Amino acid sequence: MGFENIALVSYPYQAPVSQTLFDRAAAVTPGGVNSPVRAFRAVGGTPRFMVSGTGPYLTDADGREYVDLVCSWGPVLLGHRHPEITAAAQEAVSRGTSFGAPGEGEVALAEEIVARVAPVEQVRLVSSGTEATMSAIRLARGFTGRSKVVKFAGCYHGHVDALLAAAGSGVATFALPDTPGVTGAQASDTIVLPYNDLEAVRTAFAAHPDEIACVITEASPGNMGVVPPLPGFNQGLADLCRDNGALFVSDEVMTGFRVSRAGWYGLEGVSPDLMTFGKVMGGGFPAAAFGGRADVMGHLAPAGPVYQAGTLSGNPVATAAGLTQLRLCTDEVYATVDRVAAEVSTLVGQALAEAGVAHRVQVAGNMFSVFFTESAVTTYDEARAQQAYRFTAFFHSMLSQGVYLPPSAFESWFVSAAHDAAAVERIAAALPAAARAAAQAEPE
Ligand code: PLP
Repeated sequence: MGFENIALVSYPYQAPVSQTLFDRAAAVTPGGVNSPVRAFRAVGGTPRFMVSGTGPYLTDADGREYVDLVCSWGPVLLGHRHPEITAAAQEAVSRGTSFGAPGEGEVALAEEIVARVAPVEQVRLVSSGTEATMSAIRLARGFTGRSKVVKFAGCYHGHVDALLAAAGSGVATFALPDTPGVTGAQASDTIVLPYNDLEAVRTAFAAHPDEIACVITEASPGNMGVVPPLPGFNQGLADLCRDNGALFVSDEVMTGFRVSRAGWYGLEGVSPDLMTFGKVMGGGFPAAAFGGRADVMGHLAPAGPVYQAGTLSGNPVATAAGLTQLRLCTDEVYATVDRVAAEVSTLVGQALAEAGVAHRVQVAGNMFSVFFTESAVTTYDEARAQQAYRFTAFFHSMLSQGVYLPPSAFESWFVSAAHDAAAVERIAAALPAAARAAAQAEPE
């Protein structure tokens, strides 16, 4: 799209080694990346190729260090290269990387999840959040014998065909209304409703009696920026699902084990029928899960008829790292992450206010993001109405000062328990100039 060249001219801070790697990557990989938002297309410039991470810092291929506010989009809750997680992974590797047969690590990780999250009576491990939501939807359809799925605009549940309609994350970043390759048949059973609108859900149930298998929602959305559920919304969904014979599926891939020991459920206490997890539970390795009511999970093969499987599911290295990370994630760790998130989000709001920039810092537990807009954001339409061009200027100013933000105005920011006073100080020092850049930004 040519953004890369524009940014090289506009931004004095260059990254020649990353640029060379990006050129090589673009020759062999579509768009030069293995997941779209990484390409910086929404903000322009050269994506930084990372070489290493330590605690709250990342180092790129040009040797520059950044305070990391992406944290691998959530998994890095204890900081990069935590010694105990590294040791657990190394110990597991020393015994073999994959067996294709059951192992104790899978049992221990499942037990840890079941012990932490009360509505999860049984859990099945998979390798990505996408797999988890895809499988949960299939199970909900198999269990209820119904076909339709309700999702909310701006919620992202991975790149599951049926769930890509009006999705968040990269789909929001690139303003894609839908995705070529998803057929009408695959999308026709998906009902997309406005987020935070219980009346719309009520109407959908009335219009499709006995047809809706499940309602899936992000427990607290972070993929259109951070847009928490209004009080009573999740409970209302649970009630409507129960009253109409549908399952309530809470997607905690992002919030799970990040915002509390028991994720968003731990903060709000609304019990879903099925839940999905990923990110933190893998300790930086590909591990994810879906789980919930035992009578529903009992419909999965080989216990029941709904098929689901995976060569690398419950991989011994991923489960060892994930279990170690979860065991290290104590209440004290969550208190630290909450405190750091509160500090950073407050600093961001203060800097933007001082620069006279209209903004909203929205917070959900220890996840937060900034909307460049006057009023609170409760829906995807409101999120999209923000002045995203201000984020571009803000982002590049922060990047040039050594702070790595999500390269999109429609993503949550993440901190870790390793973000110490020095890291927060670096962020604080960078914010005034970034806020001024946001103030001076002009629409393209
Ligand atoms: N669900 C939610 C809420 C997510 O945030 C994501 C990824 O960001 C997914 C599902 C998909 O997970 P994965 O990228 O591991 O496939």
